[in-house]
Amino acid sequence: MHTDSRSSEAGRTSGRADVVVLGGGAVGLSTAWYLVEAGARVTVIDRMSAGDKASTGNAGMLVPSHVIPLSAPGVISKGLRWMLSSSSPFHISPRLNLDFLRWLWIFARHANPKHVAYGIPILRDLSMESLRLFDTLCGGDGPGASPGTASTPPLPGTGYSRTGLLMLHRGDVARRDNLHEADLAEGAGLDLRRLSEAEARALEPDIRTNITGGVFYATDAAIHPERFLAAMETALRARGVEFVDASALRLDRQVGVVLDGTAEDGRRSIDGDFVVVAAGAWTPGLIRTLGTGLRLPVEPARGYSITVKTHDAAIRIPSVLMDERITVTPMAGEIRFSGTLTLSGFNTRVEARRVESVRHLAQLYAGPSLTIEKPGVWAGFRPASPDGLPIIGPVPGAERFLLASGHGMLGVTQAPITGHLIADILSERTPILDPRPLLPSRFI
Ligand SMILES: Cc1cc2nc3c(=O)[nH]c(=O)nc-3n(C[C@H](O)[C@H](O)[C@H](O)COP(=O)(O)OP(=O)(O)OC[C@H]3O[C@@H](n4cnc5c(N)ncnc54)[C@H](O)[C@@H]3O)c2cc1C
Repeated sequence: MHTDSRSSEAGRTSGRADVVVLGGGAVGLSTAWYLVEAGARVTVIDRMSAGDKASTGNAGMLVPSHVIPLSAPGVISKGLRWMLSSSSPFHISPRLNLDFLRWLWIFARHANPKHVAYGIPILRDLSMESLRLFDTLCGGDGPGASPGTASTPPLPGTGYSRTGLLMLHRGDVARRDNLHEADLAEGAGLDLRRLSEAEARALEPDIRTNITGGVFYATDAAIHPERFLAAMETALRARGVEFVDASALRLDRQVGVVLDGTAEDGRRSIDGDFVVVAAGAWTPGLIRTLGTGLRLPVEPARGYSITVKTHDAAIRIPSVLMDERITVTPMAGEIRFSGTLTLSGFNTRVEARRVESVRHLAQLYAGPSLTIEKPGVWAGFRPASPDGLPIIGPVPGAERFLLASGHGMLGVTQAPITGHLIADILSERTPILDPRPLLPSRFI
C-alpha cells in the first residue's frame, strides 16, 4: 500500500487519501477498519443524511449456519410458485430490464447441487473467520476471542454475543427444508443439534408460536447492527479516518469519486491511490460509470423489519421461523422481527401483505395489549449476487478500483472478513482466506 499523500489540487476541488472507501455501511466501515490497521490513511464517503443503508434495521444475526448459497436448487421453483402471492416470504416481480434478466439467468445457471457443494465451504470459511474477527473487535466469549479482549474490546457496547441460533419448524415442508439444511451444514462441519419441540422449548421457553421441532446452531452469534455501526464510526474517527457526507455521482479513472455537488469544504471529487466501492445495492450503477464494460450483477433484494418492546417475553436466543422465513432477534430490551425477500428493483412502495405477515408475528410476541404502530416498519435493500457469494477484489480493467459488495443476506456476518481481505489485497500480504472465488472477474 502506498503511503504517499499528495495534496489536493488547485482550489481544493479534489482531495486525496491513500484509500477512499465509498459506502459507510457495515462492509465499508469494516473495510476502513482493516485498512487503517494495515497503515493506510482512509477517507469514507457516504450520503449519510439519506440513511438508506441495509446495515441498520437488519436482523443482526451472525450466521455461519447459513452455508447454502441463495441460488440453491428449489429457490427458483419456489420463487415462481410464490410470484403471485402478495404475502409470500420470497417474491420476484417480473420486469423487462436487461440487467435483471441477466441476473436471473446467472442465478438459474447456479441453482444446482454442484454449485451448492462448491459454495458451502466458501461461505462457511468466510463466516467462521468473520466471527473470529468479531470476537476480537467486539469482545466475544467465543472460541476465537483473544485473552483480555472480552473486557476491553476496540468496539464496546455493540451487544455482540455468541448466542447460537434456533431454526424452528412447524409444518412438514419447513421441517424437511430445515433438516435438509442441517444435513448440509453438518456435512460442512458445523456444530449443530436437531431438537424435538420439548428440547427447543427447554432451550428457549419464551417461544410464542406453534413449533414441532428445530435445529440449534451453536456457533452463531448476534449483534445490534446500529450500535455496531455507531461504535465503528466513533472508533474510526478516533483513528483519524475522515468521513465525507456526500453523494457520489460517478467514478472516474482520473479523479476517483466525482461528487454530486460539493463536499462541505468545497471538494468536487475525492481520490486516493485506491478506491474501494462498498456501496451495497447501489454498487452496479457506480461501477458502470467507470466505463470498463463490467456489468456487475447485483440486485436490490428488499426486506422488512419491525422492532418492538415486549411486556414479558425474555427471548435470549435468536431464531428463524422456517415456515414463515421470519427472524426473531432479541436486541437490548426489544425484539426485532424481520423477513421477506423481494426482487423488484429499487421499489420503495410498502408491500402491505408482506409487512403484515411480519407484523402479525411481532404482535404475537409483544402480547395483545401492545399496539404495534404502522409507521414502525423499516425496509432495506440487500445487495444480492446471483451466485450467492460476495464480490470482493479489483475491477478488471481499472484495478485501482476495488469492489466489496454482493453479500445478500450475509452482509453483516461477513463485513469484517471482507474488510480484512481488501486490506490483505492492497497490502500485498498473504490473504487470510483465498479470495479467488470471490473476484469480480468471474462475471466477465
Ligand atoms: C430485512 C433484512 C434483514 C437482514 N438480516 C441480516 C442478518 O441478520 N445478518 C446479516 O449478516 N445480514 C443481514 N441482512 C443483510 C445485510 O443487511 C446486508 O447484506 C448488509 O447490510 C450490506 O452492507 P453494505 O455495507 O454492503 O451495504 P449498505 O449497508 O447498504 O451500505 C451501502 C452504503 O453506501 C452508501 N451509498 C450508496 N450509493 C452511494 C452514493 N452514490 N454516494 C454516497 N453513498 C452511497 C449508502 O448510503 C449506504 O450507506 C439483512 C438485510 C435485510 C434487508
